[in-house]
Order: sequence, then C-alpha cells, then structure tokens
Amino acid sequence: MAKAAKNTAMMEQYQKIKDQYPDAFLFYRIGDFYELFNDDAVKGAQLLELTLTARNHNADDPIPMCGVPHHSAQNYIDTLVDQGYKVAICEQVEDPKLAKGMVKREVVQLVTPGTQTDNHAETAKVNNYLTGVVADEDQHQFGLAYIELSTGELKACQLASQEAVLNEIINLNSKEVVVAGEQLTSLTTQLEKLGILVSHAEPAPIANEQLLAGLRSPALRQAGELLLTYVTETQKRNLAHIQPAVQYQPNSFLKLDHNSQYNLELTKNIRTGKKAGTLLGVLDDTKTAMGGRKLKQWLDRPLLQPQQIETRQRLVKTLLDHYYERNELREALVQVYDLERLAGRIAFGGVNGRDLMQLATSLAQIPKVKHVLDELETPEFADLYQQLDDLHDVKDLIEAAIVPEPPISVTEGGVIKPGYNEKLDQYRDAMRNGKHWLADLEAQERQATGINNLKVKYNRVFGYFIEVSKVNLAKLPEDRYSRVQTLTNAERFTTPELKAKETIIMEAQDKSQSLEYELFTQLRDQIKQEIPRVQKLASGIASLDVLQSFAHVSERNQFVQPTFNKEHRLQITNGRHPVVETVLGPQEYVPNSIEMDPETQVLLITGPNMSGKSTYMRQLALIVVLAQMGCFVPAEAAELPIFDQIFTRIGAADDLISGKSTFMVEMKEANQALQTATANSLILLDELGRGTSTYDGVALAQAIIEYIHNYIHAKTLFSTHYHELTDLDQELEHLQNIHVGAVEKDGQLVFLHKIMTGPADKSYGINVAKLAGLPDQLLERAQTVLDQLEAENGQYLTTQVHQSSREPDTSQATEEQLELLAPAPQPQPVGSSKLTSTEKQL
Ligand code: ADP
Repeated sequence: MAKAAKNTAMMEQYQKIKDQYPDAFLFYRIGDFYELFNDDAVKGAQLLELTLTARNHNADDPIPMCGVPHHSAQNYIDTLVDQGYKVAICEQVEDPKLAKGMVKREVVQLVTPGTQTDNHAETAKVNNYLTGVVADEDQHQFGLAYIELSTGELKACQLASQEAVLNEIINLNSKEVVVAGEQLTSLTTQLEKLGILVSHAEPAPIANEQLLAGLRSPALRQAGELLLTYVTETQKRNLAHIQPAVQYQPNSFLKLDHNSQYNLELTKNIRTGKKAGTLLGVLDDTKTAMGGRKLKQWLDRPLLQPQQIETRQRLVKTLLDHYYERNELREALVQVYDLERLAGRIAFGGVNGRDLMQLATSLAQIPKVKHVLDELETPEFADLYQQLDDLHDVKDLIEAAIVPEPPISVTEGGVIKPGYNEKLDQYRDAMRNGKHWLADLEAQERQATGINNLKVKYNRVFGYFIEVSKVNLAKLPEDRYSRVQTLTNAERFTTPELKAKETIIMEAQDKSQSLEYELFTQLRDQIKQEIPRVQKLASGIASLDVLQSFAHVSERNQFVQPTFNKEHRLQITNGRHPVVETVLGPQEYVPNSIEMDPETQVLLITGPNMSGKSTYMRQLALIVVLAQMGCFVPAEAAELPIFDQIFTRIGAADDLISGKSTFMVEMKEANQALQTATANSLILLDELGRGTSTYDGVALAQAIIEYIHNYIHAKTLFSTHYHELTDLDQELEHLQNIHVGAVEKDGQLVFLHKIMTGPADKSYGINVAKLAGLPDQLLERAQTVLDQLEAENGQYLTTQVHQSSREPDTSQATEEQLELLAPAPQPQPVGSSKLTSTEKQL
C-alpha cells in the first residue's frame, strides 16, 4: 500500500517536471539510474536499443519504462542529441537519506544539439555553433548571433534578407537555431527541411550587460539577448567563460554561398561527408584542437583586404623559411591541450585534477613557443607574441596544489599535493599513523594468540576487523573479541581499541577528503578569474598553429606565395588542384596554367567529357580561396586580383534542400551570379544548360555568356560541350577559347589533361563511351546516327545560333583552300610559349 502511494507520488513529481519539458527526453534520476517513462521510454528504448520494461507491472495501466546507469549516461545522451533531440537531465537535489517524503528533484541541464559540449576526439576540431535570429516587423532586417558554448565565442551580424540568414546558418553549420516566439515561420520551415532544430525563447535583459556592449544596433543586441537567454535557461550553470560579443560584417570576407562551398568540397567531402578529400583535409596539419577550429574558420571566411592577407603571408613565409624553429614550435604545440574548451569547463565547474594538470602542462609550453618566436628574430610576430601570456602565476598555482597524476574523481582525495595545506597534512598523518597502528596490531595479535594467519582487514560494511579462520578459533581468548560476522571458513571480530582507532582513521579520511574537495574548488574558482587571459592566449596559439600548418603544408606540397594586383590580371603558372594532386600523386597530375589579362573576361573551355574541364575550374577557385586565406598556393607562380565573390555552378548535384530539378538549380545559381556578381567576382559555370534540350541549352548558354561579357565583366570560366559556342570569340572581344587536349591513338582516346589555346576540334562523346566499355555494336550504331545527324542538322544548328556572327562555311572546298593558303595554327598549352604542338605534350 505504502509502496503504491510512493509510486504515485513519484509519478506525480515526474509528470510535473515532464510537463515543463514536453519536447525533450526526460532523464529522471532514481538512485544509480536515469529512468525514462511513458512515450519517452518507448521511443528512447528504440533509439538507444534498451530493454523496455514497465513500472507497476501488475496494475491495469503499467507505465512503460527504461533506464540507463548514471555512469554511462553521457553516451546515451550524446546519441540522442546527435540525432537532433533534446535531453533534460533531472537529478536528485537532496540526499535521499535526509529527505522527508519524496526526494526533491530538478532539471539541472537541458542538453540540445546546439549546446552540446562533448569532448570527443572526432569533434575536437569542429565548432558547434548555436545560432539565434531575430527580425524586425517587416522582416527586412535580421539580427543574427552565434555562440560556441564550449569555448565561449560569441559573435553577431546584421543581415538584410532571409536568404542571407539561411546562408549564414548553413555556413556556420549550426545544428540548432533559436528564434523568438512564433516569428520567422518561413525560415523555420526551411531550417526544419534541412534537419536543423528550431528552438524558441523570448529575448530578455541579461545579467551581464557588458557581454553585449560591443553590439551597436538594437537588432544585434536582441539577437544576443535571445541567444544568452536560451543558453541560461538550458544550461542552468555558471557561464563565466562567455566572451564579450564581437560584431562582424559577413561582407568583409570573400563571399561564397553554401552551394559553392559544398560543390568545391572546401571542408566536407560530397560523397563521405568527411574531411578527408577536401581542401581542409589537405591544409590541416594543425597540432592543437583550437588551431584546427580556427583553420576551418579562416577557410570559411577568406579575406578581402590585401594588407591583412599579406600580413598572414609574411608570417607563413617566415615560418616556412625556418625549418628547425618551425619543428620546435610544432613539438611544443603538440603538448598544448584545448585551452578554449578547458576554460569553458572551468567556468562550468566541471573540471577535475587531470584537467587542471592539462592546463598546467599546456602553459608550460608557452615559454618554449615564445622562445621560438624570439629566435625567428623578425618583427612580424610582435603582435602575436604580445598575445602569448604564459600565465605562469596560474601554472605555479596548479603545480603547487595538484599531484602530478591526479585521479579522475575530485571527491575521493588524492588530488592535492602534500605540503600545500597544513591541516590536510595533519589529517593525512593521522590516517597514515592509524594505518601503521593497524599493521602493528596485526603483528601484536598474532603474537598474543599464536595464530599466524590472523589478519586485520577492512570492508565498507563492517569497517576494520580481525579475521580468524575457523580451525584457529579455539586459540582466541574469549573476553576481548566481539564477533561481527561469520563466514564459511572464518569468523570476524572487533575489539574496543580497534573500534576507537577506526573512528579516528575514518574521521581523518572524511575530513581530509572534504578538505581536499574544498581546496580544489577554491583553486578552481581562483583560476576561473583568469579565464579571459586563458582565452586570449588560446586565440594566439590557435592563429600561430594555423600559420605553422600553412607553412608546413606549403613546403610539403610545394606551394608558392601568390601576389595580388588591382588591374584584374590573373596569371597562374602551372597551377594544380591541391586535392586531386594529393589523390593522384604529383607525377600523375598535369599542371595547368591560366592566363587572363586585364582585358580578358571569359574563358570558354571545350574538350571531351572526363578530360579535366571541371577540375581546371575548381583548381582556380581553390587557388583563389587559398590565396585570400593568406596561405600559399599550388603553382609555380601566381598573380591574382582580389575577388569579392566566387559563384559556381559545378557538379550535377541537385538542390538537396528543395528537391528542384538540375536544370532549375542551374538556372537559379546562374541567376544568383548574374544578379550579384561584380567586375571583381569570379564566376565558374560548368556545362551550363545541359539539363535542357540542345537548342534551349545553347541559346541560354550563349545569352548568359554575352550578358556576363557585356554587363558584368566578372572573370568567368565557362565550360561547355556545345561546340557551336566556340565561334563566340568572333563576336565577343573579351572572350577566349581554350580546350583540354585529347588525342586519338590507334582508335583509342587519350586524355592529356592539358589546357591548350583555341577551341577543341570535336567532342569525342563516342570515344568516351568506348572508354567506358559500351558494346562495340552499340558504338557503331551511335557513330552511324551521329553521322546522319551531323549531315542533317549540324549545319542548321550552327547557322541558327550564330546567324549574326558568321556565315556558315563548312564546305569542303573552302576548308581545303584555307589550308593551302596558310597552315592552321596549332594549339598551344596556355601560359607556355615553348611547346608548340600537341605531340610535344605527349
Ligand atoms: P570534365 O569536367 O572534363 O568531365 P573532370 O574535370 O571531371 O572532367 O576530370 C575527370 C578526371 O580526369 C578527374 O577525375 C581526374 O582524375 C582526371 N584529371 C582531371 N584533370 C587532371 C589533371 N590536370 N591531371 C591529371 N588528371 C586529371
């Protein structure tokens, strides 16, 4: 009866708490377990592969239930949160032994995808940004703020369209977005389609106003308030590590929309979703987790200001030129732990002795790092040097207090060094003396009784006792020993002296443990005051780490320092695609130059499928991104304009967000470029128009090229298999034809992967099909059909599309005549004057 009543009371308490967290799994702590009930249990059992049981088995309405042990709960929580769910952790907040009636319980944290601060190796180099968005009434102005809870980084920007907001959220790779109330319904729908969790909160004034002092407009402050309100509501703990908000301008960086970032595989491999096989994968030789995260940030936001880029370049060059110093630096950096996230954990109060030792070990590296910078003897590093505060006061503090190899637990003692606190030393002496006394007691008792295997032992239930085997019992004098426990082969006793000593030892142990814990928390709080210094140091170390990674990778992969000009000149000598090159190997990869003088705007690239057109275009985009990040580039020499935006329509990936057809996506992306590109932009259009009929495709492609050429003047690479378009060079002054060389050898097509001047002479579609292994019979048939089509329509197509540009003149007689008059010019590799024929390329 009483049990049933308790059951009901508990379920009432459960329900009350659950009602406050309807959209989260409630992990309800009972003893050593977190239990889930009702729908949470049914769904949780399925997602976590747990056995579903029931509370009140025999009742009419048993309550579904499943549970996880508290010590392994973190894995289960992470599993749910990784899948986009929220988990409310409900703890017993009073000692069950002391509780009158129901043990009090409270939710101590709401873990959500955007506030997860787990510490797994695979996520160490990845930021987890939670984003907050607010809009003005007409939804014309948006304030966007984002925070990384584990490091305390807080930034905000103002945006003028929902599209820009969405783009920024996707670029930040946010897993969760907070919006105010019911605002922003169409954004919410879009985000949900992308699998991004949308949470709601109301912006409220925050306790520490200083945090948002750097935000100039009301929209920005509101976004900041919204975000911090949500974080405070969900985390319910100290957030001393949150850094003052920094306002940023998304348009002070090279603009790349998320489709371009995706298609260029800057940070994520399209097939695997992983870092391997991406530009980030090639570039990342950072030694610290902070450096890894900063590298990704730089890659997401290449610079626009030549001075800023050149500052980074100078640092990279210095490090590149100093091989030994760079290696010394790398060795020191390896031993620097994740200072940013350590600072976060110190603020949360979740650190243990090992974490503090990690902090001390990391700090011990800083003088070595500074020494290396000193040795470089260049003024370039002065700013960074200033940022490297070695916090030796903090390091000394930790080293004086904490033993070199502390245990994980901070409540069971053994964390604080001897000599740190007098009182603690006294307790420990008492414990030690007590233990000696026990050892002596064993010897004395053995002598007194003549029982040689008599032992003094300890267990949790009975404390200290004397154990005597059954065969020896007769030897014991009756009076002094009182029995505490009987085993099969032995009896256990205690004596008044033993009891008294036990009390002293246990007391000393209790006291020493709680004193240790107190000393530890004092130390932690003291270090908490220094969090801003740790963060500043972390940021300096992160930058230095990225720079050394640039230097190291540039040396290993033979990158060169690019230069910049304001005259729209683009000249890359023997450039390479940094990722394809590492996959194929430097021997296999054919370098290609690209030359666009100030007057050249459009390069029209023809060549068979699979010859390397899109690789060539991607190569240029990646070189531009690398250059504007301040890194060196894969080429023998490179001179570039500074681009404001890169637009790409590369790869056939359909729009995953809206499920639009390839052609629709093509047109949308082309439109995006046409609407926003400037004369300082780079446009890369790969086989535009192939998603529709030939005539439509050619017509649109031509019109788009003309539009870019006549109105936008952006540097543009346009690859196509429509040969008809190559005649455009007659009409458009700033357009040049180039093609990827291929030759037929013994009926087989051989790709040269070399970019040559002029148009390709044919499209080789059937040759490519042959390479792919299609049946001979089929290929012969295709050739017959092609011959027919060319005879019937070829001329028509050419004339129709270029009525204005040229007279159709494909008659045999004219061609022969021309050849008699002058030898047809041989194509040359772009950027090379030495090689004159295709043969030499082979
Ligand atoms: P296209 O766009 O002309 O169809 P891709 O650019 O996709 O061709 O290239 C097809 C394949 O050719 C690539 O996967 C790559 O393996 C190879 N390739 C491309 N460019 C080069 C190069 N410069 N050197 C060596 N191999 C290359």
